[in-house]
Order: sequence, then C-alpha cells, then structure tokens
Amino acid sequence: MTQEKLLLEKYFCVSGLEPLIARQDINFINVGERTNVTGSKKFAKLIRAEQYEEAVAVARQQVENGAQILDINMDDALLDGERTMTRFVNLLQAEPDIAKIPLMIDSSKFSIIQAGLKCVQGKCVVNSISLKEGEEKFIEQAKICKRFGAAVVVMAFDEQGQADTLQRRVGICERAYKKLLSIGFIPSDIIFDLNIFAIATGMEEHNNYAVDFIEATRLIKQKMPQVKISGGVSNLSFSFRGNDIVRDAMHSIFLYYAIQAGMDMGIVNAGQLPIYDTIEKELKQLCEDVILNKHKDATDKLIVFAEQLQNKDRIAVVVTLEWRNKNVEDRLAHALVNGITDYIDADTEEARQKYAQPIEVIEGPLMQGMSIVGELFGSGKMFLPQVVKSARVMKKAVAVLTPYIELEKTKKSNSGVIVMATVKGDVHDIGKNIVGVVLGCNGYKIIDMGVMVPTKKIIETALQEQADVIGLSGLITPSLDEMISVAEEMKKNNLTIPLLIGGATTSKTHTALKIKPAYEHGVIHVLDASKAVTVVSQLLNTKNKPTFISNTNIEYDKIAYDFKNKTSFKEYLSLDDARKNKTPIDWTIYKPVQPKQLGIQILKELPLEELIPFIDWTPFFITWELHGKFPKILEDKVVGTAATQLYQDAQAMLKSIIAEKWLVANGVCGIFKAKQINDDDVLLETENKTYELQFLRQQIKKAPGQANVCLADFVSPYSDYIGAFAVTCGINIDQQVKKFEAQHDDYNSILLKALADRLAEAFAEYLHHKVRTDFWGYNDAEQLTNDELVAEKYEGIRPAPGYPACPDHTEKWKLFDLLNAPENAGISLTESLAMVPGASVSGWYLSHPESKYFAIGKIEHDQLENYAQRKKMSIQEATKWLRPNLND
Ligand code: SAH
Repeated sequence: MTQEKLLLEKYFCVSGLEPLIARQDINFINVGERTNVTGSKKFAKLIRAEQYEEAVAVARQQVENGAQILDINMDDALLDGERTMTRFVNLLQAEPDIAKIPLMIDSSKFSIIQAGLKCVQGKCVVNSISLKEGEEKFIEQAKICKRFGAAVVVMAFDEQGQADTLQRRVGICERAYKKLLSIGFIPSDIIFDLNIFAIATGMEEHNNYAVDFIEATRLIKQKMPQVKISGGVSNLSFSFRGNDIVRDAMHSIFLYYAIQAGMDMGIVNAGQLPIYDTIEKELKQLCEDVILNKHKDATDKLIVFAEQLQNKDRIAVVVTLEWRNKNVEDRLAHALVNGITDYIDADTEEARQKYAQPIEVIEGPLMQGMSIVGELFGSGKMFLPQVVKSARVMKKAVAVLTPYIELEKTKKSNSGVIVMATVKGDVHDIGKNIVGVVLGCNGYKIIDMGVMVPTKKIIETALQEQADVIGLSGLITPSLDEMISVAEEMKKNNLTIPLLIGGATTSKTHTALKIKPAYEHGVIHVLDASKAVTVVSQLLNTKNKPTFISNTNIEYDKIAYDFKNKTSFKEYLSLDDARKNKTPIDWTIYKPVQPKQLGIQILKELPLEELIPFIDWTPFFITWELHGKFPKILEDKVVGTAATQLYQDAQAMLKSIIAEKWLVANGVCGIFKAKQINDDDVLLETENKTYELQFLRQQIKKAPGQANVCLADFVSPYSDYIGAFAVTCGINIDQQVKKFEAQHDDYNSILLKALADRLAEAFAEYLHHKVRTDFWGYNDAEQLTNDELVAEKYEGIRPAPGYPACPDHTEKWKLFDLLNAPENAGISLTESLAMVPGASVSGWYLSHPESKYFAIGKIEHDQLENYAQRKKMSIQEATKWLRPNLND
C-alpha cells in the first residue's frame, strides 16, 4: 500500500467507515467533541436546561459519526460542574451503545475531573494535567489519575506558560514524561497535547505554528515512541470562523501531514472532514501553503480565496469523485440510484446532445436507472426515503429535457396516466404524495390534484387526461362517504377505469362493503406505496388486468359476505345499563384542582426550538415506511442506514425551518368551568356563553369490574373544569412547499410536511405539559422525559375529537368556537371537519387522575338515537358522522 493510500484509509477511519481497532497499520483516533459545553452551544444549552436525554442523544450521535473517544466537558460558569459531570457520566454509562467507547473527562478544574473519574467504569482518559502550577501539583494529580487507572492528556504547558515553539514543546514533554514514569506511569498511558494554535491570523509570528506542531510531533515520537500525540484541531482555523469549507479543508490537510509525522489522536468533528483527495485543487494548494508556511503571501491568498468562496455552494469545492469519470449513462444511473442531484443538469444535457431525440434519454438511460431503483426497492435493498430522493433526480433530469421534447409526444405517456386526489373536505397529503412519487418512479405520468378536490373536478380531469387509473385518498372518517360518492359519479359518467382507495381512514373491509358496490370496473384498496406499484402494474397490463380485477372482486365479495353474515360473539348493553356501569368515581370525596388561570391563552409565533425536545420521532419514520422504534431504528440492521440518513436530513431541515422561519407555530388554549350533566354530557361555561359537549359511551359488555367508559365520567357533576386547545405548526408552509415543488424536489417537500406534522404534535405535547404544570397547575411538580411523554405517562389526558374516545368530529365546531381558533391560532375547519393547515392538533384537557385514553368501539341504535337527540341532529345526519362506530 502506498503511503498516500494508507493515509486515505486513515481518513475513512476518521469517518468511522472501518473498524479501527482491528487494523494495526491505522491508528488515528478521533475524539468526539460535541459533548463539550465550551465548544458546542447546543450542548451547553441542553445541559443548562437539564435536558439530559437530548444531551445523551448528542453523545450517541458522536459515536454513530465515528468518534472513538468521547470528550466530556462541563466547564461553564453557570453550571455546577461537579454535579453535571457526575450526572451526565452516570447517564452515559447506562447506554451500552455509548459506553462501548472510552470517555475523556475534560476540565480545567481538577475537582470536576475527580467527579467524573468516580463515575466512569473501565479505562478513561483525563484531559488534562500539566506543569502549569509546578511539579508538586502535577505529580499529585497524576497520582490520582493513576489510582483510577486513567490515561492522561498532558498539556505542553509549564510554569512559564503554553509551549509555542518546537523547543519548548519538546522540552516540557520530556520533563513531564520523566516525572510520570517515576511514579509508575507506562508510556502508552501518556498523551501529549502539543497545542494547536490558530494560523493565518495576520501576525507573522503565528505563521509557523502548524509546522512547529508537526515537527514537535515527529521529534517527540522519535524520543518517546510509545506516547501518544494529540491536539484540538479546530483551533488551527480559528481565523476563518464562519467559513466551514475553508476550515474543514484546513483541518483535513493539517491532519494529513500531522498524522504522517506521528499524531495519534485529535479532537475533531469527524463527520465533517472532507477526504484529503477530494479537496478542490486550488483550495488544497492554498491551505497547504498556509499550513506548511511555504511563503509570505500564503495567508493573504487564502483569505482572498475564502472570501470568494463565501457565496459559492459547498458542493462546488468538493470534487471529482471516481464515478464522475464514467460514461454519461453510468453517471445518470449512479446519480439516480444514489439520489445525487449535484450534477444531474449537466449530465442530462450531455446525454441530450448524445442522443438523437431528447425523449430517448428518458426512455433509455434514465428509465434504465430507475428500473435499477425499482428492483432494489422491490427486493428490500432500498427504502422509501432513498427512492423519493431518486425520484427527485429523475424529475430534475426530465425538467431539463422537457423544453426540447415536443409537447404532443408527452401528452399521453406510454406507461399510463394516474389521476390522484384527496377528496373534498380532507387535507391528507403526505401518503398520497409518496404514492405519487413512487408510481412516478415507475414511469407513470402522475397528475396530483392536491387536497380538498371536489368530485366533479376529479372526473373532469380523469376524462381530459385520458387517465388509466384514479387514486383517491383521505385521512378522516367523513372522507369515506365522499369516496363512495366519487365512485357513484364515476359510474354516472360511464368511466371504465379502475379506482384506487388509500389513506389512514380507509380499509379493505370498507372498500369491499361500501365503495365497490357503487362502481363495477375495479375498486382496489391500496395500503402503502410499495403495494401501489404492484397493483398499478397489474392494472395497466392489458393481459393481466381482467384477471387481477376479477380476483380482487372475488376477494372483496367474500370479505363483504363474511362481514354481513358474521355471527358476533360480542354482547352489547343497552345505553341505560352501560350508564349504570360508568367509571366509579366518588365525587363527594374528590376535589378538582382549581386552575391558576381560567379563560383563554393565546400563543403566537412560539419559538420552534422549544418544541424540538417534545418531538415523538417514531411516527416520523412510519410516514416514510420505516418501521421501528426511535432511536433504536437508527441502528437497525436492515433499515438503520436509510433511517439515519433520513434523520440527518430531518435535523438539517429543522435548522433551516428555525433559522429561516419557514413555519409559524400558533396555538390557543383555555380552561373553563364545567360539570358533568345527563351522565354523558359536559356543561361548559365561559364568561358569556355556555356549551353542552356531547360524548359517547362504550356499550360492549365488559368483564366484571371494568366500566363502560365515557369521557364525561372524568368530570365532576358538582363543580369541575375542562380545558380545550388547538395548535398548529403549518402556517406559511405552502410558500416553502411551492419553492421545493418548483425545484422538482418532492423529497424535501414531503420531508417538510412530515416535520410540520411532528412539530404540531410536539406543540400539543408541549402545551399540555404547560397546562399541567402551570396554567391549570394540577401537577406542577411533574418531571417527565420525552420517552415518558410519548408513553402518555402524564396525569390527565387530551382527547381529540375524531379519535377513538370521542370519534365524533362535529364536536370540533364547539371546540373551535369556544377558542375562536380561526382568529386566535389561524386554524379553520373544512366541511368535513378536517383542520387547515393540516399540521394542526386540537382537543380537550381532562385532569382527573383516572382519566385515560380508550376506544368507544361500536355503539347500538339506542345510543345513536339518544345522541342525535342530545345533539339536536337528525338520525340520518348523526349516522353520517358516526358511521364507523355503528354496529350495523
Ligand atoms: N405522540 C404521538 C401522539 C399521537 S396521537 C405523536 O406525536 O404522533 C395524537 C393525539 O390524539 C394525542 O395527542 C391525543 O390528543 C389524541 N389521542 C390519542 N389517543 C386518543 C384516544 N384514544 N381518544 C381520543 N384522543 C386520543
């Protein structure tokens, strides 16, 4: 292996791509530095706010990014260093995936180091001791470290100050080495930090700092071969603060030379280092001149270059990679499979010039690339987020070619046209977008009509575009009826193309039972994006289509038959009997906690960063069809890599969302006087209005000792309170989504929508916490971790209309009127009671300690009648809203 190759491999190690320990020829150790309050503002903020779980996540990320030692530093004037060090180190020891690497206990206060040493299990490194305060102190501290079995970092520092020349570095290290050996240290437990100082500062005396470090390393390694040499690398480029491209390149180049001289470890952000070989030529040369102090103008030249760079894209300076040397077809395929958009415009243009017709580029290399993607996805080797990235590459390529392709030719795609829409009254979007993108990858022309689309428009578009399939989606129960009416209209308009049904509220049973009878040319329920591809390919294959539809019909007829003829073993109580079995709470004893503040509170433009610790990430991965619990999913054997990449993309986008204010978080909540009336209702009083809230009660016959629950059971019939809330993080989202769509970037558009949903749920969690601990204050001592919040360990609940404990969406009318949510939070309701913006959550707050989430299940006709009467609705209307809960 050549020296250069060997060094390159070292860099791969730095990025954590190869198991380091197993290789004897490669031994550069990188120390993760993000868990250092002096170096990371984010980490300092988390520690100050005592958000230890998130702080532990930072440590985990470092390990994932390839850190082989983790530097922990709690030196902050606002912190009790000993206490925080103890707490954090203890937490880390309990995490096997973090505790597998050694810790570096870092502090300028020895008492903090001792606090850390007391908690660490196994061997650690102390950072640092030095001769700064004389030999006596040095030996005393070194002895303590030795007693704990720790290795020590010795700063090149003595009574006169920091060593800044070659001679002083070597001299101090030799002196310290002798002392340490005299008290029994073995040389391999000694790490010298030779002080990396800033260069290119404009001061001539600083110009040789890097050279001195490198030469001192070489000399010390000759004199004391077994010791280790280390340094904090980021100091080097301090004068280029804000210009990460130059900084990272400097670090990489510096390490390239320092490692050759014998440097063993460094505190670096490993994830960010560019590979030495991939640094752009000019930048590399200029950095090298500065680092190696080659000539007087080196600094000035680098500064000029850095200034020009400021405006350029980072990508532009990281260069020619191996695959760029391949022919254009292979480059297109590579870009598609790897989801790389950086070169797609130029490569597509090159291909356009090579082929006789631009359409041949699509039908040839691009489709070939996509078929590789399709195969990998189909065989479980690629996952949804990666496929959506591939689709983005494809779309960008097609956008380059479109102006050259005669419009006539593209009007009717060879493979098929699919019209997709979310039905009237519903705002469900993400799932439909994903299905659209995945089908698009397979060569179908997708016409996505968006959300809240009236039936008439769907039919018109299908006719106009000569669609081969219509796909409908919906999230909330009223959309089920809407889908039936689309099917009926298709029949009236004599359409003969198949209808696909998808979205959270839909089911095979409902499709078989209610939609299929309305339309005879194929109605198919499609659960997810990967399934959609197989279904559509069957439907668009003239040979397979009839068999596929008739098989589906047979299957659905059987489902419908079984459903209608099922003999239910479930027994139901009359509503009267169910009420007699209500939740037993003795209201003469229980005294509801009086809220600190009654009435409405408005939260406008809440800083989004406050919500991040409250995010429940698991559903985010489910959206992308990656199943598994967060954070474990990041390490999953099968989907771990895809999940980690997706999570990193999400983190990066969250930063932009916050920094560039892409989303606005508004919310409103209130706490009101209330009491239970008529068993199942709650009378709510504001200062000038009263509302009667209606709830449903479980009617299924329960096991002895179990109640037939209704939410009203948790409100006192004497005098109590109920809360209400509506929050959104979806305001302004359309502006940014449009920008992404203009760039043919479905990946980021879907990512943003998914993050807005997460932030809205996090807002609900955040506000509920605030209500419990402050506004209502019935649990002001609560201290729950994110995991505990996600597991609903809090006291009280926040049931949402439309969800299992209160499935009637129409109660949102009262909720929204009560809070004046349209004005106070910018959230409105569609005719089907979907919330706009889509990234919104609303519900009630109940405080009783026994209150819990549950499902109403099926109800009997007696309750339907009674409920309709209480709601002053016709039975017909009540039937429409409660359909999924009716036992018919
Ligand atoms: N942590 C999850 C919460 C999802 S449930 C997430 O971030 O996605 C969304 C909301 O539905 C909850 O916040 C709660 O308001 C409500 N909810 C959950 N279960 C419910 C039930 N059984 N009945 C009524 N509302 C419920």
